[in-house]
Amino acid sequence: MFELPLRLRRDADALVANWRALARLSGTAACGAAIKADGYGLGASWVAQTLAAAGCRDFFVATWAEAAALASLGLPSLSVFHGVRDEDMELALSGIATPVLNTATQASRWRSAGGGASHVMLDTGMNRLGLDEGDLAAGALDGLTIDTVMSHLASADDESAQNSEQRGRFVAMAEKVAARRLSLANSAGIALGPDYMFDLTRPGLALYGGVPRPELAGVIAQVAFPEAQVLQRRTVRAGEAVGYNATWVAPADTDVAILNYGYADGYFRGFSSRGGALLGDTVLPLIGRVSMDLIAIDVTGHDVAEGDWLTVDFDLPRAAAQSGMSQYELLTGLGTRFERID
Ligand SMILES: *Cc1c(COP(=O)(O)O)cnc(C)c1O
Repeated sequence: MFELPLRLRRDADALVANWRALARLSGTAACGAAIKADGYGLGASWVAQTLAAAGCRDFFVATWAEAAALASLGLPSLSVFHGVRDEDMELALSGIATPVLNTATQASRWRSAGGGASHVMLDTGMNRLGLDEGDLAAGALDGLTIDTVMSHLASADDESAQNSEQRGRFVAMAEKVAARRLSLANSAGIALGPDYMFDLTRPGLALYGGVPRPELAGVIAQVAFPEAQVLQRRTVRAGEAVGYNATWVAPADTDVAILNYGYADGYFRGFSSRGGALLGDTVLPLIGRVSMDLIAIDVTGHDVAEGDWLTVDFDLPRAAAQSGMSQYELLTGLGTRFERID
């Protein structure tokens, strides 16, 4: 088969270990998995099959298009965060997934259609999606069969009073809703401790190697490893420049490897002169600007030749600090030009 010059190595053992670690921290609550945005860029189908085999039962996507792409897997439970627009009803009523109802309009649409059990999102202060206290008082959920009532934390990755405020509001609002289960915590929420677990947790980022809070450092392992092929090795003489706008000038003769990887692959321009590639334990520095499809790595003194492969450093907390992007953006930005290998 034709081989691409860029690969994304996905570590299934690390993915499963991360889910197990988050499940352990979730205590008696079930631990689900947010696999929206194509499994945060890693491949929703691969993530779902890997985690389902490990015992995960509750999977969440954002849209019905994402649910349809996974329908043939027959997952134990698949839910759609964004609920049901008119345009979604045909697919939703086909039963491939369960909607999370977010508005009074969605609730009444689902009730009128006789859609069956659903989940409900409550807004507890993020002012994003969800029903508010007024909706509950007006009977928006009357007559619906509700499996899980949930809310979402706005500042779980911060030391913020908003966390306990949202928790308190969630408990008060959920008392007015007859549901089988309660669910509040995302990845960072799991690190806030037992008070935030309820019956079901919904991690995304940390499954994929993201570390949203210091409590999870050392607990969560890297899952995604970009590997790029060396297209050329050259010697740059002292005083010559490398890359667009000549932002890096060689202080001495320097051996440079040009790798097939760039910002069109989600390796953003913020990595310019800050990122690096790994050779065993050695970090080889990235020099100059990141191009659309290419980066330059200083390989002086190392045995790196045209055609070799280098793993680009993609430890998410470090890569986020280097690039100024969030760990979420780095994962979901991974482009389509990778050959995914497991
Ligand atoms: C994306 C999402 C999650 C997962 O969040 P992470 O921060 O990635 O763990 C959980 N719940 C909802 C409603 C989401 O949209």
